[in-house]
Amino acid sequence: MKDILKIEDITVDFMLAKGVLRASNKVSLNVREGEIIGLVGESGSGKTTLTSTLLNIVSRPGEISDGKIWYNGKNVLELNTNDLNAYRWQEVAMIFQAAQNSMNPIMTIKEHFLETVAAHKKDYKEEEVVAKASKLLEQVRLNPERVLGSYPHQLSGGMKQRTIIALSLILDPKVLILDEPTTALDVITQAYIFEILKEIHDELNVTMIMSTHDVAVIGSMADRIAVMYAGEIVELGTVYDIFDNPKHPYTKGLITATPSLTDDITKRKAIRGNPPNLIKRPEGCQFAPRCEFKTAECEKEAIQLRKAGDDHVVRCCRFERLGEN
Ligand code: ADP
Ligand code: MG
Repeated sequence: MKDILKIEDITVDFMLAKGVLRASNKVSLNVREGEIIGLVGESGSGKTTLTSTLLNIVSRPGEISDGKIWYNGKNVLELNTNDLNAYRWQEVAMIFQAAQNSMNPIMTIKEHFLETVAAHKKDYKEEEVVAKASKLLEQVRLNPERVLGSYPHQLSGGMKQRTIIALSLILDPKVLILDEPTTALDVITQAYIFEILKEIHDELNVTMIMSTHDVAVIGSMADRIAVMYAGEIVELGTVYDIFDNPKHPYTKGLITATPSLTDDITKRKAIRGNPPNLIKRPEGCQFAPRCEFKTAECEKEAIQLRKAGDDHVVRCCRFERLGEN
């Protein structure tokens, strides 16, 4: 499968009074056309930072200090304002974390659709936008007549999120980035939204990059999963690799810590310790200070990703020797 997006050595620094906080540390990741790739990691692991770089919109005081984002042979980080505006939403659209709260309270949903199209296209016909919006709203299982005339506050949280999904698709993007798309919602609504997203993916064949701190939900959705820790990808593989054959001690911990309906609660254990201070990163492996398998070699120098299988890489210098631990 062809790569549609390629992240190469992306480094993001937040210039803070206390020092430089490196939120993304030379991250490389290829996104394949048509796949659903999950970015999994606890809060603060750099999911939002990384996904924001795909649209070149890292929030202040952050700076992309190194790296490239390749799309259609061009480095997104070097696009001029016009090209960047055309790329955003028409090529790659993003649903931001807590996007429901950023809807304009004094605009109807129909106006949200029209405004979005107007921001990206000079010529458009209102009837055509409304017809397309209606189709998309039906696709997310909402009643277009009712929703188009509503104001955001007249919709429930789940309805708002589904509206935003429809809105993100109005310009037929090829890639959709979803940053923790269901975090603010209850479990039943979450499951429903994932079902709808899966349907949309299959029908429209849109590539999806979806971040979540909830490992359990992404398993049923994604083709591949990237596990993030302290602004790095520590393991990348198929869903099978990550869930049934994890290699990195952190991934193993994350999977064991995840509640499932069938597991034995007494066997669930949290990973001891806390993620490192990103202003004063540890030498060598970023997970070493918490890792029960660390040896002196882990703390000597930065650990590179190593091949663990056909489509599986892991950032651990000892994984072969850890066996089935
Ligand atoms: P995630 O989305 O996985 O929760 P983030 O990308 O939001 O992680 O954050 C990664 C790191 O960058 C965290 O240590 C966070 O505190 C820091 N960070 C993110 N945004 C800012 C900001 N605007 N100012 C300072 N630090 C930030
Ligand atoms: Mg985030």
